[in-house]
Amino acid sequence: MYDVVIIGAGPAGISASLYAKRANLNVLVIYNGKSNLEMTEKIDNYYGFKDGIDGKELYINGIEQAKNLGVEIKKDEVFGIQNLGNTFEIRTEKEKIETKTLIIATGNKNIRPNIKGIAEFEGKGISYCAICDGFFFKNKDIAVIGNGKYALNEAKELSHIVKNITILTNGLKAPLTEFKTNDKKIKEIKGEQTVREIEFEDGEKIEVDGIFVAIGQAGAGNFAKTLGIMQSGDYINVNDKMETNIKGIYACGNATGGLLQICKAVFEGAMAGLSAVDYIRNFDKEN
Ligand SMILES: Cc1cc2nc3c(=O)[nH]c(=O)nc-3n(C[C@H](O)[C@H](O)[C@H](O)COP(=O)(O)OP(=O)(O)OC[C@H]3O[C@@H](n4cnc5c(N)ncnc54)[C@H](O)[C@@H]3O)c2cc1C
Repeated sequence: MYDVVIIGAGPAGISASLYAKRANLNVLVIYNGKSNLEMTEKIDNYYGFKDGIDGKELYINGIEQAKNLGVEIKKDEVFGIQNLGNTFEIRTEKEKIETKTLIIATGNKNIRPNIKGIAEFEGKGISYCAICDGFFFKNKDIAVIGNGKYALNEAKELSHIVKNITILTNGLKAPLTEFKTNDKKIKEIKGEQTVREIEFEDGEKIEVDGIFVAIGQAGAGNFAKTLGIMQSGDYINVNDKMETNIKGIYACGNATGGLLQICKAVFEGAMAGLSAVDYIRNFDKEN
């Protein structure tokens, strides 16, 4: 059981870990895939670097700094989180982890793929959350768009409810799975009141009652939907302590929108870390 699990090792996640660790908490940072910071060639507008600094170097320095302080850091993909009441279970590619608090510092990713018809049918057969919406598709034919662990996890979740599942990779390599797969490029999603049909670029069409989008790895928006965390557009809503509407869950950095810059990610990470410290001190008194 961890006191704090932080998803993301960018400036927001690492900053949160430094404050939580220095308060003597049991802290784990999990990260996987690209950070926005890593993709930045040169940063000229962050305090303290007179000649600027390479983004990848700053990212690695942050991770090393946290490790030197004793923060546990694991490279692993998080694809599911469950609220267990007053603790949370984090499901990764390798294990299940339990924690008293959770900090979402996953940056922001656009969870909507660039496919004609997707935006039009959101909420009308297109969903981004199997746990939230799976029930509406009981005994129906559905498709899951994606080809990674996250898509397979969503399909597995749905397999207990729906009749048929096809994984659509939209031109990417099909994963090894027991589910039916189709790796053709999707041209358009069609329907009337709700989704009815998917047309591929080669002219093939398949009929579906619903589509679940699970491209790449899960991001802040996906976790928010699964856990019932309030959002505005693609961003998680937080107060000035970085608290979400779910007790014990905090969000920081690009995941919360606003100024998408390192200075804001570092500040919000610090606030989230300190808020988790406060919460844990009360949690340990009450439990
Ligand atoms: C090209 C470019 C140039 C930029 N230039 C500047 C600049 O000059 N100055 C500036 O201030 N800002 C700049 N930015 C913005 C800055 O990089 C971001 O604001 C900052 O990195 C946000 O930090 P973050 O910690 O919120 O997210 P990120 O740095 O994006 O980190 C997200 C973390 O979450 C992890 N993660 C995500 N999903 C999962 C999952 N499912 N499982 C496990 N781990 C996961 C990732 O591995 C990563 O560690 C630039 C961004 C880009 C793309």
